[in-house]
Amino acid sequence: GSSANGEAIKAEMIDDLARKHFPLCMKNLHDNLRRDRHMKHYGRLQYGLFLKVLGLSIEEAIAFWRKSFSKITEDKFNKEYRYNVRHSYGLEGKRANYAAKSCQQILMNDQPGPGDSHGCPYRHFSEDNLQSALLAAYSHQGLTSSDLPEIMHAVKSQHYHVACTRVFEITHAGSGVGTVKKGEGVGGGESVTHPNQYAARSRELEK
Ligand code: SF4
Repeated sequence: GSSANGEAIKAEMIDDLARKHFPLCMKNLHDNLRRDRHMKHYGRLQYGLFLKVLGLSIEEAIAFWRKSFSKITEDKFNKEYRYNVRHSYGLEGKRANYAAKSCQQILMNDQPGPGDSHGCPYRHFSEDNLQSALLAAYSHQGLTSSDLPEIMHAVKSQHYHVACTRVFEITHAGSGVGTVKKGEGVGGGESVTHPNQYAARSRELEK
């Protein structure tokens, strides 16, 4: 299979892509999946559709979820999860071509409860948890604790996408070609509106 931008993504590439290119919502989902080896419904929906649009084929998606849910049997996976993965690719049920959720949808719909890992961390995490999560996720890309006050200021003003955009700028800053400066957002002054836009711009900058 190949993605909209023509690049096939394999299940085993996702750990590396998450580390380098994912916004915090998707890094959080990925890390929780690796930790728990399980994920609840809305998390699977948010993450699964994101991975589909990123370029994961149905075959690779089945392989990814099967390997990730390593605590359950093949039989349980086939009975309870395979259908849902195929459904999200429009291969079951009413065969709809489901779009990946935008930031607006993630921010406003299906508020996460205890034990859930979906949502937008800028909105749904406590301030302490958000700051720890940011440092854990992005210090390898140059984010430091001195960046946090500015990010938290945007969060406290409920400008979550501004906070996410600033994190993109900080983690893609540098002096070479293919980097962004403060105010450039994800490119051309655009701010983050969709997790797939974030990941796609990040991958473009790497080339
Ligand atoms: Fe994800 Fe959008 Fe929130 Fe960024 S602003 S973490 S891309 S939902």
